[in-house]
Amino acid sequence: MEQHFDVIIIGGGAAGLTAGIYLSRAKMKTLILNDGTIGGQMILTHQIANYPGIENISGYELANNMKKQALSFGCQIKNSIKITDMNLTDYIKSITVNGKETYTANAVIIAAGGRSRMVGAPGEERLKGKGISYCATCDGDFFQDKEIIVVGGGNSALEEAVSLTKYASKVTIVHQFDHFQALSHYVDEAKANSKIDFIMESKITEFIGEEKLEAVKIQNQKSSETEIQKIDGVFIFIGYIPNTERFSGILELNKFNEIVVDNLMVTNIPGVFAAGDCVSKRYRQITTAVADGTIAALSASEYVNNIKITNSELATD
Ligand SMILES: Cc1cc2nc3c(=O)[nH]c(=O)nc-3n(C[C@H](O)[C@H](O)[C@H](O)COP(=O)(O)OP(=O)(O)OC[C@H]3O[C@@H](n4cnc5c(N)ncnc54)[C@H](O)[C@@H]3O)c2cc1C
Repeated sequence: MEQHFDVIIIGGGAAGLTAGIYLSRAKMKTLILNDGTIGGQMILTHQIANYPGIENISGYELANNMKKQALSFGCQIKNSIKITDMNLTDYIKSITVNGKETYTANAVIIAAGGRSRMVGAPGEERLKGKGISYCATCDGDFFQDKEIIVVGGGNSALEEAVSLTKYASKVTIVHQFDHFQALSHYVDEAKANSKIDFIMESKITEFIGEEKLEAVKIQNQKSSETEIQKIDGVFIFIGYIPNTERFSGILELNKFNEIVVDNLMVTNIPGVFAAGDCVSKRYRQITTAVADGTIAALSASEYVNNIKITNSELATD
């Protein structure tokens, strides 16, 4: 059975849920298709930081509030689905999920978010958000006077390591090579900071802890010797992967595989908009995802209204 919507949103994180709230409140028939747990990356953090007006809320609660708000305006949400077929280029867009249900729409918003590149060592998946973080802006404050490790050797790693010294009593940078890839001023700043230590040519090969991170196993890449180091937290900055694999060859992506949009969140395909962490931009926060979702919803709304006006004019001619 085929069901038609004004707008289909792919992704139910902060950007997708915000777009869902705006569209359904504006009486647009809206469907959110989400492949994971609703809330996206928000639910990875135990406490949300920097969300204006809300000082103390868990990621799960904020995500659930956004979901409830979207549902209250009539937005439909399908969770834990898998998109198996998709046509975004035709005038009427169509998306098939789980190989059997097909939904069509006049417009589509892609809010597929992204994921941090992981170290890939045992224990990492389990201890994500329990001492392992991928966001200094979000979680730095929870490590006041604690000893932490920063993994990485690029600009983000060095810049964030310096910023984390505002909170942590000691920051050790663990990097796999004998030199950094970061620009020299980031390296100089980190080296000049008395709270920062370096373990070069080394990798974390295991994250240890039950309920929360307690220690890491570090292996020297030259000698293969390993040591176990007790630690309060590990911040990982070894790159970011936008969830855009599914759209490659369909939408214009930049060299980082982020979706190229203009300031109205318009992509290269008419009727297809994109928002949140999956688009080309520098800062990735809930506030920026929410802002993108708002703009994408308003742009999609205008696009769909124009189609409706054109169709009704044609019908009365
Ligand atoms: C550990 C951690 C802590 C953070 N803490 C904070 C914080 O305290 N404050 C803050 O402002 N920011 C924080 N951030 C950043 C913030 O969470 C993100 O910038 C924001 O949530 C991104 O929202 P989004 O909707 O763009 O993407 P996402 O949250 O990534 O949501 C995308 C959704 O789309 C789904 N999806 C992907 N591909 C498909 C597909 N093909 N089909 C269907 N669904 C799909 C995903 O499953 C996901 O549910 C944190 C990030 C992390 C990783």
